[in-house]
Amino acid sequence: MNSIRAVLFDFDGTLTLPGSIDFAGIKKAIRCPGDVPILEFIEGLPSVADRRQAWLVLEQFEDHAARCSHPNEGAEELVRFLKQRHIRRGILTRNRRASVETALKNFAHVRLADFNVIITRDHVQRPKPDPEGVLLAARRLRVPAAALLMVGDYRYDIEAGQRAGAPTVFLESHLTTRRPDPPADFVVGTLGEVADIIDRFNRSRNKAHKDHK
Ligand SMILES: [Mg+2]
Repeated sequence: MNSIRAVLFDFDGTLTLPGSIDFAGIKKAIRCPGDVPILEFIEGLPSVADRRQAWLVLEQFEDHAARCSHPNEGAEELVRFLKQRHIRRGILTRNRRASVETALKNFAHVRLADFNVIITRDHVQRPKPDPEGVLLAARRLRVPAAALLMVGDYRYDIEAGQRAGAPTVFLESHLTTRRPDPPADFVVGTLGEVADIIDRFNRSRNKAHKDHK
């Protein structure tokens, strides 16, 4: 068994307070059906002009949301905890790097440089729920996927982690409409609980290691 050596965060609604991105508004503006994911819908539009227009609309919504984003409860403290424990940190998002940079300006302490890797939709062929981004992050963080804890507030985050072989934490909020199925390894209501999970996980692994010796 592995101890947790890295944490990979979803960004919007996980490190930031949920609710700043208006997914329903985006879907309405680009005429994307409610049950179809936005990125995949745009990729599937038949003409270059339609795709270009839809990307522009999406980016306008994302820019606005990033400017209005705030740190999620416990996010800054958790990043500090991970740094103190020398646990590596990554972000995996279906958003763009520009949005992450803008949103992080509203954080008091956490900076872009606090993350060892930031993987956006521009870095992968297939975004979450595909495991490609999780596996890429694990390689860049130089840890096996089984030693990387995937933390996210949407079922795609959990599915991507599970398909990559990573342990997963589902962050529930008042906006959660559907829990992941199969369920995440852990379900939390605040990011502060993630520090406890890591401590428990790593303590029991250390004990097992010692017992084995
Ligand atoms: Mg999210």
